[in-house]
Amino acid sequence: MTCTMEIYLDANATTPVLPEARAAALAAMSADYGNPSSTHSAGLKARALVDETRACARRVLGAPTGELLFLSGATEGIQMAVLSALTALRQRRERGESIPQLLLFGATEHKAVPEALRHWNLLLSLNLQVLSIPVGADGRHDLGWLRQHAPRAGLVCTMAANNETGVVSDLAGIQAALEASPALWMVDSVQALGKLPLSLGQRPIDYAPFSGHKLYAPKGVGLLYVREGAPITPLITGGGQEGALRSGTENMPGIAALGAVLKLLEAGNLFKAAGVLASHRERLTVALRDAFPKIVFNADPALSLPTTLNFSVPGVSSQVLLNLFDAAQIRVSSGSACGAARAQPSHVLEAMGLPAWRCASAVRLSFGPATPSGLIDEACERIRECGASLRDNCLVPSIQRPTAAVERINRHAVGGLVCYLVADPSSRRCVIIDPLPDQVEPLAQWVRCRNYVLAAVLQTSSHRSVVSCAAALWKSIPAVLADTAEVDSLGWPRGAAEIALGGQRLTRLHSPGSSRDATAYLLHDAQGPCAVFVGDALTPRVRGGDVDPGDSPQRAALLRQLQAAVGDGTLLLSRHDPDDLYASTLNHEMAQLMSPAPVAEPAALSPGELLARIARGDKIVLVDVREPYEYRLGSAPQPGLAVAREAVPVSSILNAIPHWRAGDPDTTRVLFCRSGSRSAQAARALRRLGLERTASLAGGIALWPDAGHAARRIDRA
Ligand code: PLP
Repeated sequence: MTCTMEIYLDANATTPVLPEARAAALAAMSADYGNPSSTHSAGLKARALVDETRACARRVLGAPTGELLFLSGATEGIQMAVLSALTALRQRRERGESIPQLLLFGATEHKAVPEALRHWNLLLSLNLQVLSIPVGADGRHDLGWLRQHAPRAGLVCTMAANNETGVVSDLAGIQAALEASPALWMVDSVQALGKLPLSLGQRPIDYAPFSGHKLYAPKGVGLLYVREGAPITPLITGGGQEGALRSGTENMPGIAALGAVLKLLEAGNLFKAAGVLASHRERLTVALRDAFPKIVFNADPALSLPTTLNFSVPGVSSQVLLNLFDAAQIRVSSGSACGAARAQPSHVLEAMGLPAWRCASAVRLSFGPATPSGLIDEACERIRECGASLRDNCLVPSIQRPTAAVERINRHAVGGLVCYLVADPSSRRCVIIDPLPDQVEPLAQWVRCRNYVLAAVLQTSSHRSVVSCAAALWKSIPAVLADTAEVDSLGWPRGAAEIALGGQRLTRLHSPGSSRDATAYLLHDAQGPCAVFVGDALTPRVRGGDVDPGDSPQRAALLRQLQAAVGDGTLLLSRHDPDDLYASTLNHEMAQLMSPAPVAEPAALSPGELLARIARGDKIVLVDVREPYEYRLGSAPQPGLAVAREAVPVSSILNAIPHWRAGDPDTTRVLFCRSGSRSAQAARALRRLGLERTASLAGGIALWPDAGHAARRIDRA
């Protein structure tokens, strides 16, 4: 399947701007460009638009009284709400009154809320205690806890619906828990707008921030509701706009666009009713279950927005899922957009007490309330293709696929630790070295699906940091696929001088280091030794090269031993590889011992620079380092010029190094992947191994010159 049309299912991060909103913004920048503070007719026209939009917002939000301020977005609205509440507390303290000592926020709140509380608490020298309100496994606030702490709270911040899970808060329950509390109450309503009925005026909510770009208006415009009588302190002062509560010339294109969206929301024909949205979600749920039978959903649909799904797939990381969906041209995310660049587990799922694997591998799929049914159908079809791709590549349980591609050395890295699976396609035998507990199921799956015989599960050391999971692995593999023999404590068959793997063989080399029994394993092919699995023996040097060469006599001894046993260019593969350096060589290790030198950073070529190099006749090979499960869903865009291409997945790049070393030294390999990060990392590692003519494509396929044209965004038909 090759998909060219982008399906955007990340609406909780942001939404495309509706054509009506775009037209309104354009009008506010062209014909109707007046400043609402001017008293001539251009200004009066602009003022009328501001008033009209505010009036419409009051109706949509059910807020007939109180302030409704236009500002830049929810983050600003949150700052102003927190500043207002905390300033009022400070003024009371300055008057000598005693004030409540707690500031409370929901544990699953958007980061803007706790950050604002801490910031203004510090800046106003209030020094109140900032506490998070725990949530249950269902993601809802612990109302008992809240009831207990509310009497001592000066401000309570909760949200109407969560951006990562879609869990809808029990606002009635929170209201009841706050009954005996002196606290002001802020409800972050960003994700509720357009998806849940809102009647702000009917609840004792003091502050409610909203954001335009979460509902088809542009970025840079938002609203803050402030209940009549609630304290207000301007965050920005100046020309006195917005009743002197938020100065600065109004963002007229933004307000006009937001106004157009609110009008559509009020008219009610473009935005789907909750029942329709729930049926969209149900279809997506069925497709996800078909694609990933072991999927777990991280929020109860009965308690969540009908537009959000948050899920984890056992044994499949969120990175793999994101790569997979992206290859199918479906845009989803691994949590909040603000956290997406930091590969950290979701604080929301952690607060719900979900197991670590679910927090670290969650994916969020969210659509907007104007999403057409046809788009959901297309998304379901592609999601099923994603599942088929994982099955074809043996990444999830599936029937045996002995034809699935197999490389000699397969690298499985988790959190800086690496396990290697050495396979021999001719004999269908394999050996696993240093497996980690989290990898047992994926590795067993690899063996079962490809119908390989597992000849040994080896460890490079019995050091206490190495958790043996050999027994668990053997147990997960059917007896017919297990070459059982009596083995020693590191898994080596007793009395055997070598382990045969068809045309290859493994031998071992005692290399005391991290433990007395530390052992390196040497892989030999017909030409001689080709790789050494060195365990932890080279760890300090392999990690970066800034260690005193004299620090490790054991390492120097091992290097001498290896020098006698293998060639200088043989790949040394470490169990520790937090910087994704992939491999080292004796040449490199020796050079580092003599004079540690940083490796020059590889060039990250912009698409334009790449095309210029091709045009000037440089010898270039483009190397697609994405994984086979990604290739299956769509080929990478063509650069429009004749240039050689190779597909070498990062997970098996080690196998290509010998060929590249032996190849034309004048050829530059430009690695590319989805976002540019895997390829940049791989290019750095390859240069370190002496393949200096290696570069990567900055921004990856995402910034490929053709990509923007090829992918037509169709959030709305
Ligand atoms: N609150 C929630 C629940 C959100 O989802 C977001 C955006 O991700 C924000 C606040 C911040 O909104 P803005 O981007 O308008 O500053």
